[in-house]
Amino acid sequence: MSRQIEEKLLFELDHPGRNGASLPKCDVPEVSFADAFGPLARKEEPVALPELSEVDVIRHFTRLSACNYSVDLGLYPLGSCTMKYNPKINEAVCRYEGLSGVHPLQDEATAQGALELMHALQESLCAISGMDACTLQPAAGAHGEFTGMQLIRAYHEAKGNPRKIVLIPDSAHGTNPASAHFAGYAVEEFKSGADGCVDVEALKARMNEEVAAIMLTVPNTLGIFEKNIKAVCEILHAKGGQVYIDGANLNALMGVTRPGDWGADVMHINLHKTFSTPHGGGGPGAGPVACKAHLEPFLPVPIVVKKEERYSFDYERPMSIGKVQGFYGNFLVLARALAYIETMGAEGLKSASELAVLNANYLRAKLTGKLELGFDGPTLHEVVFCDKGMPNGVTTMDFAKRLIDYGFHPPTVYFPLIVHGAIMIEPTETEPKEEMDRFVEAVEKIVAEARETPDLVKKAPHEAYRKRLDEVAAARNPRLVWKR
Ligand SMILES: *Cc1c(COP(=O)(O)O)cnc(C)c1O
Repeated sequence: MSRQIEEKLLFELDHPGRNGASLPKCDVPEVSFADAFGPLARKEEPVALPELSEVDVIRHFTRLSACNYSVDLGLYPLGSCTMKYNPKINEAVCRYEGLSGVHPLQDEATAQGALELMHALQESLCAISGMDACTLQPAAGAHGEFTGMQLIRAYHEAKGNPRKIVLIPDSAHGTNPASAHFAGYAVEEFKSGADGCVDVEALKARMNEEVAAIMLTVPNTLGIFEKNIKAVCEILHAKGGQVYIDGANLNALMGVTRPGDWGADVMHINLHKTFSTPHGGGGPGAGPVACKAHLEPFLPVPIVVKKEERYSFDYERPMSIGKVQGFYGNFLVLARALAYIETMGAEGLKSASELAVLNANYLRAKLTGKLELGFDGPTLHEVVFCDKGMPNGVTTMDFAKRLIDYGFHPPTVYFPLIVHGAIMIEPTETEPKEEMDRFVEAVEKIVAEARETPDLVKKAPHEAYRKRLDEVAAARNPRLVWKR
């Protein structure tokens, strides 16, 4: 069914005189807006907000929600994004009034529970990552990377020389070079070996005392575990360099192995990926940074500390890089993450990682032969295919768009850049086998269509609310303001 309804904006649905509440008859004299607010009222008239009834508003938003796809509807295999199902108990917890009603400027003595929650989360993340200290301040993964790079810079500066270069493999997430650059470093791309891992000999030859750090995503964006990670840490440390781990893919590792044990110095963790807090709508996330003791003095202020059964924000940190966020405005993301960690327990987290890897390898086995693998060799929580062998000029984009018609969110496409026409699939641990089989069946059908009726694939999606969008125009010329 092609959906033709065009949902109007609330401003277009405006019905002067309507409202969403029935108030008792007014028994005091009416005053004008200007009289009521006096000099505070900058305008003579109230702003022209749309006037609507409750049912108008509820239907508007319910119709809009039905235009969208979500992880509550089905498989959302967006590689590198860990779109796992988020248990509703996390939502129930973060709606507790004592958590949702807490104010950032409230006296610490009246917010002990909230501080205890943050302290417990810091400790859990240290235990999971094998690190010594943690800040919950960064609001996203990329923000965590930037914070981590600043820690590294502050550390080198304290030793007398901030150094110049950060090495980043060509399989890195795009945010890595951006973060290193913003922290004032020159980024040097480092070519992966034929196996998708770091070439240890090449690294040894390249390493010198100008190199501040290496940034590595483990497992990397091909889903490949960096098998030389211990050697990489040793090579960097031998010349005083630091090892930054992009921990966005921690969902493949938690409970099984810990970056701190490999020798890594600092990493960020995406709570909105691994620790099951909803993401994708542009809302708040959280990218805590965990580090070894030698970087702890530089962590952003304030850190939540516990002294004699009292929790407080510690601002007395003279070597700190300063604040990286005004307030802990993403506090409820932290609450969801701790609820997830506590309800799962150590065994639960380990089995989540194991199932995430198992599910990805199930899809890999089922799809191999239908699609071409981007890289051979074992992979963990995600699998990357390429566009090799797609018939009749059908592209990765066509393929992805056609998946929408079969009721799936498309995988990540054209990333990582080192795979031609990449199709990057990450099912996560929360997918049942039936849902993955339904996906495999859809891929089989699209492969057959590409051979027999390629136009059907090239013009997809046919069933979506919107057809092919001009994505470049949408990004370059967004229309953000409605004018009557
Ligand atoms: C998602 C991701 C990031 C960035 O995280 P954001 O929260 O989107 O800023 C960085 N690196 C990798 C490998 C990722 O998957």
